[in-house]
Amino acid sequence: SVAIQAERLRKVYPGSPPVAALKSASLEIADNEFFTLLGPSGCGKTTLLRLVAGFESITGGTLHLFGEDISHLPPEKRPVNTVFQHYSLFPHMTILDNVAFGLRRLGKSRQEAAGKAQEMLDLVQLRDYGARLPNQLSGGQQQRVALARALAPRPRVLLLDEPLSALDLKLRQSMRLELKRLQRETGITFVFVTHDQDEALAMSDRIAVMSAGEIQQIATPGEIYEYPANRFVAEFIGDANFYQATAEQIADDGATYLTPFGTRLAGPLVAGVGPGSSVTIFVRPEKVALARTATEGALPGRVRDVIYLGDTTDYRIALDQGGAITVRAENHKDGRPLANPGDDVFVELDPSALRVLKE
Ligand code: ADP
Ligand code: MG
Repeated sequence: SVAIQAERLRKVYPGSPPVAALKSASLEIADNEFFTLLGPSGCGKTTLLRLVAGFESITGGTLHLFGEDISHLPPEKRPVNTVFQHYSLFPHMTILDNVAFGLRRLGKSRQEAAGKAQEMLDLVQLRDYGARLPNQLSGGQQQRVALARALAPRPRVLLLDEPLSALDLKLRQSMRLELKRLQRETGITFVFVTHDQDEALAMSDRIAVMSAGEIQQIATPGEIYEYPANRFVAEFIGDANFYQATAEQIADDGATYLTPFGTRLAGPLVAGVGPGSSVTIFVRPEKVALARTATEGALPGRVRDVIYLGDTTDYRIALDQGGAITVRAENHKDGRPLANPGDDVFVELDPSALRVLKE
């Protein structure tokens, strides 16, 4: 079933000039889904969350939660809870009391609230920490307490606004797994906000990529990475080489494009494109191979830059035919890169790795 349905949702903050933070966002989030809003700072992610939570009034469009129109329902009437980046635990209260606090306010008895709070601490793997004070816990543990507190009233939807961005990288990575597990075990719909592509790809069932108050694409991580809807999405997620190609034949179900590598590429129809017009194509650097000797169809070139990345290395190669390409390849088993600046090399480009962008 559908948990959240937004239709042409719009938010303009008053002021001079007014700020159109969300222009016309439509999306459907399924019950039990781990759904991520991904985009650069200022694109409207928090605004969308605050509209769902009811902390901001909507300027236009409608919002349904489990089939009910909640467009004008006050926040406390919505079966929704929020975890913020800067979790604010009450410093003078024990961990258990922090988690029980919301339950007490909902009218639960002291005993029932404490029992439920302890269950939540078990869930976030802080079973034995209930008697401590917040400042006796690490940042990651405090964030887990904030999660337990938000989950305790059993909301049907949990909104998470960049909850990991204050943590260091290692902790962030282990918290990704933890959040995934919590979502699976509770069955609660998670709407997770991040500006970090890796985080979004690693955790989400589906991702909405946003830019400048607009949703650019909604799809699974694999679809977003392989078939980005436009250049913004292709650039924001992962790295890519971009080129212009020329449309040759246009048919009802697709088109043929002549690439700058002299190869032809069968691809989708692009709106407004006729024979002879130019389109953007791209290829991910890890989909291109590097060879030291000529192979059938390989493009000769010379290595300009070598960027060592640890498990892989990026090679920026000037092609003899003109233009350049970045190739990402694994190193030799002993860690040496495959080539050095100035080396003559060959680039193997499988046409099936080339993608045509619709916009
Ligand atoms: P994100 O969470 O993606 O960084 P926000 O939703 O916080 O983006 O902000 C979207 C846009 O709305 C930004 O241009 C921001 O400056 C503006 N904005 C956010 N909150 C307010 C507010 N309360 N009043 C005026 N402008 C705001
Ligand atoms: Mg934000």
